[in-house]
Amino acid sequence: METSGWMEQAEGHILHTYNRYPVMLERGEGVYLYDTEGKKYLDFAAGIAVQALGYGNQAYNNALKEQIDRLLHTSNLYYNPPIIEAAEKLCAASGMERVFFTNSGTEAIEGAIKAAKKYAYEKDGRTDHEIIAMEHSFHGRSLGALAVTGNANYRAPFEPLPGIVKFAEYNNLESVVSQINEKTCAVILETIQGEGGIYPATEEFLMGIKQICQERDILLILDEIQCGMGRTGFMFAWQEYGIKPDIMTCAKALGCGVPVGAFLMTDQVAAASLKPGDHGTTYGGNPFVGAAVSKVLDIFQEQKITEHVREISAYLEEQLETLKEKYAYITIRRGKGLMQGLELRSDLSAGEISTKALEEGLILITAGSHVLRMVPPLIIKREHVDEMVEILKKIFDSVSNEKK
Ligand SMILES: *Cc1c(COP(=O)(O)O)cnc(C)c1O
Repeated sequence: METSGWMEQAEGHILHTYNRYPVMLERGEGVYLYDTEGKKYLDFAAGIAVQALGYGNQAYNNALKEQIDRLLHTSNLYYNPPIIEAAEKLCAASGMERVFFTNSGTEAIEGAIKAAKKYAYEKDGRTDHEIIAMEHSFHGRSLGALAVTGNANYRAPFEPLPGIVKFAEYNNLESVVSQINEKTCAVILETIQGEGGIYPATEEFLMGIKQICQERDILLILDEIQCGMGRTGFMFAWQEYGIKPDIMTCAKALGCGVPVGAFLMTDQVAAASLKPGDHGTTYGGNPFVGAAVSKVLDIFQEQKITEHVREISAYLEEQLETLKEKYAYITIRRGKGLMQGLELRSDLSAGEISTKALEEGLILITAGSHVLRMVPPLIIKREHVDEMVEILKKIFDSVSNEKK
């Protein structure tokens, strides 16, 4: 079938919750994707921070193929080796002690919220505990995750949402502190806000929250779904700050393409929160995703991915700064490691640039209306950074001509 025919058919059957780019992707190789017409794209989005190892990693693919032939699914009523290995490796990589595997990021958030609520309930038996979340945050689309997502447009049609949630200003410690009271059971935030525009937490903010949470036995939940798994040059972004959350969520690059998420906690939280009967999932942590997570973590170690990210992201930042100097259209560069945002002048929309980029064979995504987001595969090299920069130069030059 012709590409246009496929798109028409999609619009006839798939629920219209996305305005998709008019591109149909068919195959990937390394850090490149190819569409059904054979056009090649340099991928600086990685399926929204998922494909950390790029495409066609043979060790990863073979591990999956072997597991498919051995055993796909058992349910959580029985033990299975791959997920136990994955759990052990994920705990070692994060320094957290207990893990529950989910099928997505939003489910990891649901589990984290349930664990925090149960922890508080075990202490005082009350059911009116409050959670403090951040403005401009993004934690997912299921009802619990939506309740802590700081985007009123996403929330409005679905109110009332579960739980009592208060929103504080990100990177404003006073704004958080002033909303804490005896009912507060948890503070939830992204270590680096992703969808909200690529804002890293300041050290003062994160350390301050950690301290007050510790003093008052409030649980700190860090959402590492986008910024975790090596993206910042640390396995998890919080590790750079020298603090540790009570609960952490993870997904996106955890399975590098296989749908899997996780929430992890300390032994202390585990001992006083979710018990048999409190939480469950049919698919979550099945042997297939276990094999994927386990292999991903092995490859990260073997290839020293975090070291590579630190090295290559220094170069990327330098090149993006140079680009910013050259074009007044770029007002700010923000981010850490291979999670970078370029904020554009208010007369230029990020969607317009990402669409032009696609035409030029570069996949970029946006974070809000004026921020270009770069979350490439973690295996990119200097030549890919150079290629991306050349394409952006071409685009900004053409925009300059149009606006003359
Ligand atoms: C993507 C994302 C989620 C939601 O994950 P899904 O797998 O899409 O449900 C939650 N939090 C953050 C920070 C994310 O980037």
